[in-house]
Amino acid sequence: MNKIITILFTLFISACNSKEDLRVDLHSFSEPHHVVTTHLDLDVEVDFEKEIISGKARYEIKNLTGHNQLVLDVNGLEIDKVTIDNKVSSFQLGYQDSILGQPLIIDVDEDTKAVSIFYKTGAEAKALQWLNPKQTAGKKYPFLFTQSQAILARTWLPCQDSPGVRFSYTAKVKVPKDLLAIMSAENPTEKITDGEYKFKMNQAVPAYLMALGVGDLVFESLGEQTGVYAEPSVIKKASYEFSETQKMLEIAEMMYGKYAWDRYDMLVLPPSFPFGGMENPRLTFVTPTILAGDRSLTSLVAHELAHSWSGNLVTNKTWDDFWLNEGFTVYFERRIMEKLEGREYADMLSLLGKQDLEHEVSALGHSHKDTHLKLDLSGRDPDDGFTDIAYEKGFFLLRLIEETVGRKQFDFFLKKYFTTHAFKVIDTEAFVTYINNNLLNSQPKLKEKIRLEEWIYSSGIPDNCPKVNSIKFDAVEGAIKSFLKGYPLENIKTQGWSSHEWLHFLRHLPKDLDRNDLQKLDQAFGFTSSGNSEVLNAWFQLTIPSGYMQADKDLEGFLLTVGRRKFLKPLYEALYKKDPEKAKRIYKKARDNYHTVTIQTLDAIVL
Ligand SMILES: [Zn+2]
Repeated sequence: MNKIITILFTLFISACNSKEDLRVDLHSFSEPHHVVTTHLDLDVEVDFEKEIISGKARYEIKNLTGHNQLVLDVNGLEIDKVTIDNKVSSFQLGYQDSILGQPLIIDVDEDTKAVSIFYKTGAEAKALQWLNPKQTAGKKYPFLFTQSQAILARTWLPCQDSPGVRFSYTAKVKVPKDLLAIMSAENPTEKITDGEYKFKMNQAVPAYLMALGVGDLVFESLGEQTGVYAEPSVIKKASYEFSETQKMLEIAEMMYGKYAWDRYDMLVLPPSFPFGGMENPRLTFVTPTILAGDRSLTSLVAHELAHSWSGNLVTNKTWDDFWLNEGFTVYFERRIMEKLEGREYADMLSLLGKQDLEHEVSALGHSHKDTHLKLDLSGRDPDDGFTDIAYEKGFFLLRLIEETVGRKQFDFFLKKYFTTHAFKVIDTEAFVTYINNNLLNSQPKLKEKIRLEEWIYSSGIPDNCPKVNSIKFDAVEGAIKSFLKGYPLENIKTQGWSSHEWLHFLRHLPKDLDRNDLQKLDQAFGFTSSGNSEVLNAWFQLTIPSGYMQADKDLEGFLLTVGRRKFLKPLYEALYKKDPEKAKRIYKKARDNYHTVTIQTLDAIVL
């Protein structure tokens, strides 16, 4: 969004709310302080031929101030009609903003209890990715999945699309025969012949956690409360990879209190899914790129599971407070992995995280405002401000607090924090007050050491950032030195290295290795043919600048199948720098296979 539009948009917002703008979330038009939605009955049909979802969303509402309007967010939806008590009711669609979409304003009165909206999704619904059979593992049936975070729920469902508005839901979803539909709700485990599925979600969730997946899916149980859905040809691999999920859940419960969502299942998506995972309650969506065959990338499952507390249970009030969702989740994820695999393993994850953090800060610039934990995303698509800062700077702040006050005291505090704020939202300011009152004010010397405000409201990485040491990574660095001194690679001890050690190895090789060196490494360690997506990604970042042609075919294959933005962004950046024409040629072929979230990022790099 350019500056002029930003100013106009700000003027528009202030003009609309000249009385008083009580909205806490500038990324939603809804006014939940007046009239709030409390429950949704969704009744829709999924049409793969036309690539639309159509039907009815009926909301139960609570009128808190006797207001005469219910305001919902929509973006690109076609609204056929609105009814109240089966009578057609009047509505208006407000100004269309390129980022936020439009307010759907429905006339209500003090006694209105429910409102029904009849609608269709538009051709550009950003939350929906429609995949043709060729883009799936089985190649026989189409596939659909939603991605509602941050503000995309409104592209497939009229809703008060703000993290601060929670509603429970039931849903009836009709899909073509032979396909299974599942949601962030109580789910079926088998296909129904008529293709009409019913769902119930008793726990209230914000709109960004509304999720639907439709495809040729089968289910396999992983434990008492846990299981996985995937295409038939992927299910065995997935259930092997995720076999520790039940154990992770039990570890998490021991640390921070009872799991609040009954079941924890996962849906393995086709490779075009733009993220590593999405923490949809009861049904995490995951990328197949973590199916490494050796359970080496499952910290991602620990991450999405941890969101069941930080994010889904205690939710950031606005996207400016995103670090409260992600920083806590990374901290919790590493604690789960520590319990599961030991401290050394968790420290490797933390060190890789620190490298990501340092890389992000130097890419953004040390004084850039997006390196603050508390963000200012006004006038922007929240997705554009989501970087590693929320995750890793957030993690290191929490680790600093843990190290300063001691783990026992910090765990006690965290458990209370999750219990006290369960099913509520919290913003950064309320968090600061809460931690001061419940942990830090009674220990002024320790409080001073932490410098909480500096971490949250200042740029860069504060100089009291915890140091992490890893004996395992020291050994990796030793191996690199030996290689650079010319020792034969077969004499370097790499037996038993995990993918984290390989990642550290690849990230710390000099960036200007020539083709001969890369060939030697490839022959010794088989990087080009690695089945591990993290290793491949780090390897290609070395081969692209050097022009090591032997990896070219596999690189192109990777770019044409994988849609995970975290991998594609650095690879296209490197490729474009080296050979813009080649980058454009591959991107042109691959673009249709990517999700709009990924396309938005890559268009800016390649086009
Ligand atoms: Zn996360």
